[in-house]
Amino acid sequence: KNICIEVKNLKKYFLIKKGFFEKKIQCVKAVDDVSFYIKKGETLGLVGESGCGKSTTGRTLIRLYEPTGGEIIFDGVEIGKMPEKEIHPFRKKMQMIFQDPYASLNTRMTVGDIIGEALDIHKIAGGKERIEIIHDLLAKVGLNPDHAIRYPHEFSGGQRQRIGIARALAVKPEFIICDEPISALDVSIQAQVVNMLGDLQKELGLTYLFIAHDLSMVRYISDRVGVMYLGKLVEIADRDEIFKNPAHPYTKALLSAIPIPDPEILKTRQSILLEGDVPSPINPPLGCRFCSRCKYAMKKCSEVEPEMKNLGKGHTAACHLL
Ligand code: SF4
Ligand code: MG
Repeated sequence: KNICIEVKNLKKYFLIKKGFFEKKIQCVKAVDDVSFYIKKGETLGLVGESGCGKSTTGRTLIRLYEPTGGEIIFDGVEIGKMPEKEIHPFRKKMQMIFQDPYASLNTRMTVGDIIGEALDIHKIAGGKERIEIIHDLLAKVGLNPDHAIRYPHEFSGGQRQRIGIARALAVKPEFIICDEPISALDVSIQAQVVNMLGDLQKELGLTYLFIAHDLSMVRYISDRVGVMYLGKLVEIADRDEIFKNPAHPYTKALLSAIPIPDPEILKTRQSILLEGDVPSPINPPLGCRFCSRCKYAMKKCSEVEPEMKNLGKGHTAACHLL
């Protein structure tokens, strides 16, 4: 089959204590019944405002977090309930690139050791071969072999992200979660990093989940795009379909907030302002979670949760208007 990873009804709930003196435990439904798949070699963009559960979805997908429920099928194998010991061989096939490359790099280690650490953990190479692989990886991400003996603070933000990418590539992964990899970078550097990720994907046959808070950032790299709101996947479709025919009011609002230089899309697009903040995932609204901010909200919306509806050609969205 050509599916790299698939999740069915994925849930990740966190239990938190309400206040210091109170004993009450509250449940944060960070990811609540989310299903999607990513084909081999493709990029699924995942967007939504901060706190919508996209990072938690990514981390749960590769078992950095224990799922509360649902299935995770990687390369045809169910890994959602697999015990830690059996997960190990899957770990190197699934890597992560983080938003803040500086915070995610050990500042006391040389660049060579940061990249080499992954080779050591998975016992991939030692000695001269290890050094060759490190130099090779540095070249792949546009850095020099002599950068291996330097430290992260000697590099710019964009270069640090390249180091983070080299580290992720060291173990020859199949699937990489890119968690807002360009959000912290200068605008002038963002396109470079996105293009490099695209080139590496083609060269190495990688599959990406590319997480971003706005649609403009996933536009060029994604084959398909999913939109999350308050722990729910509210819409998913091919990239062009999402931009031309968004079905969910929340997707429309996200789209109207970004500048698009395509007159054909501009013509059909009304500007929709997103007002108010995202409600707390501790007590999400009953019915549709977007209800409190949706200008189309009807009585039914606050009572009945909308289900994902199939709109054809792999386009699905959850809204009572459809
Ligand atoms: Fe808006 Fe209702 Fe659709 Fe939710 S279900 S997005 S509240 S119209
Ligand atoms: Mg995040």
